[in-house]
Amino acid sequence: MSRPLSIRRHQDAYLVSAAHVNWVLVEDGHDLTLIDGGYPGNAADVERSVREIGHQMSDVRGALLTHAHVDHLGGLAVLADRYGFPVFTGADEVAHAHRDHLQQMGPAQIPLLLWRRGSVRWVTDIVRLGGTDRTGVEGARPYDPEQPLPGTPVPVATPGHTDGHTCYLIPGSRVLVTGDALVTGHAVSSLDGPQLIVRPFSHDRESALASLDAIADVDADVIFPGHGRAWEGSPAKAATLARETAGFWRP
Ligand SMILES: [Zn+2]
Repeated sequence: MSRPLSIRRHQDAYLVSAAHVNWVLVEDGHDLTLIDGGYPGNAADVERSVREIGHQMSDVRGALLTHAHVDHLGGLAVLADRYGFPVFTGADEVAHAHRDHLQQMGPAQIPLLLWRRGSVRWVTDIVRLGGTDRTGVEGARPYDPEQPLPGTPVPVATPGHTDGHTCYLIPGSRVLVTGDALVTGHAVSSLDGPQLIVRPFSHDRESALASLDAIADVDADVIFPGHGRAWEGSPAKAATLARETAGFWRP
């Protein structure tokens, strides 16, 4: 049985939300760029979202990865293998995408989350979606905006959540894809609206806070986050709200 997907369009960019994570499709005529791809268990959902916006997988010219955590990379790894499209990410994220190392919360950190409402259900769900999979994307390479993918995504380096985390501005649609550098909700967060992702998920919280400055500098109208709903407003305003709520959670 297929689970419901929600698709929110802003001009040529589509935010697709599955139960626990988002990905983005950018349309440029017949061509598509896929940004992130959910968990391994979301691969069929990504295929379905491509069909739902009137395309087919062969329209995907390439994919961008905001960061190499399994909830964003897993589905991409399956689909890049299946369809042969190239996968690009930030230069400092390539080794992570290759799984030369892993900057991700492991089972040992799960107790840090269990006091949060919704967390037990979340852990059960993500294990089912392949959340413990350690597969990387072997062919991932640095994205060169001089050789742009459809929609001419512009990378914005936003280290912290991972060392090479990268946001992508879709200039024609005035959408900023923020991955997990700035989210608007999460199954284990009771906050609604622009926020930093809950603390145990980020590799370097101080850098993540500093990267909100890079987000604030971007000129756009809409935020498409890695988790939570699309948010209308300037990245500067979103960054301010995320800073204001950053102290909300205890460590
Ligand atoms: Zn994530």
